[in-house]
Amino acid sequence: MDKHLLEAKIRYQVACEEKAHHLVLQLLEPGITEDELVNAGLYLTPNHYQDITEERAISRICGYPVCVNQITKNFCSNECYKASVYYQKQISTSPLWSRKEEKPTPIDLLPKEMNR
Ligand SMILES: [Zn+2]
Repeated sequence: MDKHLLEAKIRYQVACEEKAHHLVLQLLEPGITEDELVNAGLYLTPNHYQDITEERAISRICGYPVCVNQITKNFCSNECYKASVYYQKQISTSPLWSRKEEKPTPIDLLPKEMNR
């Protein structure tokens, strides 16, 4: 591969990782909206999301990012746990830098009504 092309490719990979890292930090905060969660999922891997739920649990907030409940376990309720698993299953497993050409599949959140 041409040196400049390789350099551009690496720079893009780093930029994708940085963006994902920034989103991970954002999703650790309480008060994430559903839109933010849906959008973030397009730029994360399931592993990033796993880290988010675990880090939130360490800070004693429910692992599901749109929920602000305080917890003693990893999620405030079985409903949030189910919604979180449902979300995580939809996150693409393809490498971040290969997604530019992919048409992103919109992520769908478990509706709150079904969630009770
Ligand atoms: Zn919750």
